[in-house]
Amino acid sequence: MAAHRKLFIPGPTEVAPEVLAELSRPMIGHRFPECSELIASIVPKVQKMLYTENMISLATCSGTGLMEAAVRNCVRDSCVCFINGAFSKRFYQIAKSNGKQAIPVEIPWGHGFNADLVDEALSQNKVDAVTLVHNETSTAAMIDIDSIAGLMKEKYPDISLLVDMVSSMGGVKLEIDKLGVDVALASGQKALALPPGVAVAAISPKAMEKAGTVENRGFYFDFFNVQKSYAKNQTHITPTIPHLYAMKKQMEIIIEEGLENRWRRHLEMAERVRAWAEEHFRIFTQEGYRSNTLTCVENTRNVNISDLN
Ligand SMILES: *Cc1c(COP(=O)(O)O)cnc(C)c1O
Repeated sequence: MAAHRKLFIPGPTEVAPEVLAELSRPMIGHRFPECSELIASIVPKVQKMLYTENMISLATCSGTGLMEAAVRNCVRDSCVCFINGAFSKRFYQIAKSNGKQAIPVEIPWGHGFNADLVDEALSQNKVDAVTLVHNETSTAAMIDIDSIAGLMKEKYPDISLLVDMVSSMGGVKLEIDKLGVDVALASGQKALALPPGVAVAAISPKAMEKAGTVENRGFYFDFFNVQKSYAKNQTHITPTIPHLYAMKKQMEIIIEEGLENRWRRHLEMAERVRAWAEEHFRIFTQEGYRSNTLTCVENTRNVNISDLN
């Protein structure tokens, strides 16, 4: 076996040995009670981590799959896609390629969105959903989700709020119910520190209501298929059972650490890395929008990046 090289990349991130070990358990049937028990042991911990009572989808795909799911279920005709980096641009491409009328609103990469920018775009465009990336991994910009969610609640309650939290969920405090995010989605292999292959979404009752008005939701990602199985602690397709075992373990570790401790630890690590980066380089990301889970350093010393890698 190749030597273990510790990863210092945004994702996949390092997986704890005891979590990795869970992947090698003997298989069970996905309609066996054991599998329902497994799912039932994970869901409340995810809800706790996200401060939500929303339905939790444990999806067998990467995060991009759930970005597509959000669009297929919650964009009836049109959406504004807020772009400030590679992944928010991908959200736009997903909306467009699924036949939705997608309106891009782009700001310089490295900058973050706030309520004023969102309000400006929505006052000029009549749409039924918005897509946003909470933590734009390509530039380490974290948007001001509190102010944006507040605006949406107050002024645009009928517009579905679809938020990619791929690289912040599990590392940053995100109170989904309080924010009123309709679809909050993440990959397993970023701040949740799982092997790639499983993704998570919290889907609000409002999102379900909306999905009921949307045609051609497909099958694999249809929220109603997810919901029917969810009621039985199952998934409508064969899930990645090894990842579910790993996730059960990882959620236990997260809850045991204590959520507030976990958020604080990530903030402290971010502050330390940012201080180092300011001293030796420069931080790429706009001040006030710097991520707590990753740091984007401007290559002011012309370091050969492939050599570094
Ligand atoms: C990694 C990432 C994605 C893509 O996730 P996959 O799991 O590779 O599909 C989407 N959005 C953000 C913000 C990411 O960091």
